[in-house]
Amino acid sequence: MKLKSFKELLKHSVNLIKETEGRYIDPFKIYSVQEQLSTAFSQEAIGKSVNAVPIKKLTWGKGDTKVMIWSQMHGNESTTTRALVNLIFLIDRHPSAFAKLYENLQLIIIPIVNPDGALKFQRNNANNVDLNRDAISLGQPESRLLMNTYQAHQPDMCLNLHDQRSIFGVNGNPAGLSFLAPSFNKEQSLNQNRRQSMSVIAEVAEHLNHYGLKGHIGRYDETFNEHCFGDFFQQQGTPTILVEAGQLLLDYERNRSVYHCMLSYYLLLRAIVDRKFSDEKVKLYYQLPVNQKLYYDLMIKNVKVNDGHFHLYYTYDVEVHNDKLCYRPRISHVSQRLNPAHRVIDAGFNYLEGSYGEPLHYLNKNEYLSDIKINSVNYSLF
Ligand SMILES: [Zn+2]
Repeated sequence: MKLKSFKELLKHSVNLIKETEGRYIDPFKIYSVQEQLSTAFSQEAIGKSVNAVPIKKLTWGKGDTKVMIWSQMHGNESTTTRALVNLIFLIDRHPSAFAKLYENLQLIIIPIVNPDGALKFQRNNANNVDLNRDAISLGQPESRLLMNTYQAHQPDMCLNLHDQRSIFGVNGNPAGLSFLAPSFNKEQSLNQNRRQSMSVIAEVAEHLNHYGLKGHIGRYDETFNEHCFGDFFQQQGTPTILVEAGQLLLDYERNRSVYHCMLSYYLLLRAIVDRKFSDEKVKLYYQLPVNQKLYYDLMIKNVKVNDGHFHLYYTYDVEVHNDKLCYRPRISHVSQRLNPAHRVIDAGFNYLEGSYGEPLHYLNKNEYLSDIKINSVNYSLF
């Protein structure tokens, strides 16, 4: 299928599945909608989480190249699961459009590695362990299931899907989508596997430049950590790619990100089939700008505080209440220097006012200050 046709198909298919609407998703609802897939996808519960929620695996395709894909090992990173589930349904409903992938690949997919974390919208699992630091100790049932699946299938390629926070930027722009060919040693050396990962990323990034992501594609920090699954699998000799969904503008619900992820997953699979690995592509990979933590969610600039003027930087803490996400604006930085932010309010060298109109002379880091006025005008900070 031509990329143009895929894009056409995609246009009508983002949030095809209503259970994936919104940033908070319920694993049980995702599992029940997966029951509607055709038998082209075989489904299996491979085990249970700490809180005894099933963890499911899907397999599809009859090709020789095995690609293992997993998502949401960090429970509050749901964008990739939403994209993956919608892509799975798109493939299932239009099998002829994906015949080349079906003939060449065998996909092994775990859409939600950390269902307990997903339900609480928290990064760690129910034992408060970061599963992506558990590749060596394998202390958690979820990590053992991921490792068992890897060992049972011995994939030719791994795709490790995550969300990144809205603090990340590339070259002063918000990071829309970031990639990493993880290192397999401290020296961050190159070998055949890593070159393959890099080639695939460069190929995909090149295409994504033409689809609204130019200047928004970053390369993740390549510091080696064998406790991370991506680095560990790369060390075991399996080319692995980390994909980090990002956020553009005020897309806090990450609907635009879901679209970009679906596009990038399709491109990744296509590039894996085409096997166009080259040193030229490795060079292109290194030309991708490195992601930096430089963004804030909101800046209130030119705020009068005591004798001076400062810029107030907010970060939103995301929490789940009654199955809905709440964004709590927290002051994370106060500075006279300008930093990039997704939204800017200009206080015009005035004091911020509290709910009774009183001027706020002191602004403290980590304070949840959300109802403010400037010149008697109310501002909602989210
Ligand atoms: Zn993550």
